[in-house]
Amino acid sequence: MTDLSLNYSESRSSELYENYITTLQQLEKECSVNSRSSEDVLLLCVSKLKPASDIQALYDKGIRHFGENYVQELISKSEVLPKDIKWHFIGGLQTNKCKDLANKVENLYCVETIDSLKKLKKLNEQRCKYVEGLGQGSDAASSEKHTITVNIQINTSGEEQKSGLSDESEFFQMIDFFGSPECKYVKLNGLMTIGSWDVSHSETEENKDFAALVSWKSKLLSYYNKKGHTNVAPVKLSMGMSSDYIQAIKQGSNEIRVGTSIFGTRPVKN
Ligand SMILES: *Cc1c(COP(=O)(O)O)cnc(C)c1O
Repeated sequence: MTDLSLNYSESRSSELYENYITTLQQLEKECSVNSRSSEDVLLLCVSKLKPASDIQALYDKGIRHFGENYVQELISKSEVLPKDIKWHFIGGLQTNKCKDLANKVENLYCVETIDSLKKLKKLNEQRCKYVEGLGQGSDAASSEKHTITVNIQINTSGEEQKSGLSDESEFFQMIDFFGSPECKYVKLNGLMTIGSWDVSHSETEENKDFAALVSWKSKLLSYYNKKGHTNVAPVKLSMGMSSDYIQAIKQGSNEIRVGTSIFGTRPVKN
């Protein structure tokens, strides 16, 4: 069980903040080299298996976006930590866990690992039930507050064991669902991928998985175009981790998910 105490030492706090700032400076440098605005790339702190006090320490420095991989761990942490944290769920998700995410994490900001229409519908349905249960009515303000943003996770490597969607027709069905009246409490934020290990550790210039995610984004934009959708929100790309975020920024990432470089190595999950 993860440590849920919120007390941290000054030395741990400085260590974490220095790591965060170092990573942020790398991010800014890479953006400037590539003529991108650093405001277009979010540094998501991946705190899985780390104590709640580490999150509190960074929170106290003004950081709000944190990523977690395990449903129960996220629920427990969200119960004790401040309610204006923007939680990202980035772990493998089973359909039957969508209910807990929707019901037990009020400040859930983004679920990044939705890889089927079934899970998307489930998350929306369960969030609807949760909001109904709160009895706060369905005005626009309440809808905005409770809406969960979603990244569709794409399997860009073609590796069987990797999660993520690879079926185009299901992908477009999901896109259509976001535009349907039934879709009330989820909205599309963007696309996400986990690059394969081989690719991220090779010396070649371009990362094939990241390039593949960019091409899925193009497919999506032409689909919008074909359907005559104007005024659609920008499609963001979540790609890049500690080992490959520099390359990911080069290839157009809008969110890098960094754990080890900020928090240090993780304990083994038991
Ligand atoms: C753990 C994890 C990360 C962070 O990985 P690091 O290598 O520690 O930076 C990023 N994305 C996902 C999906 C993860 O599971």
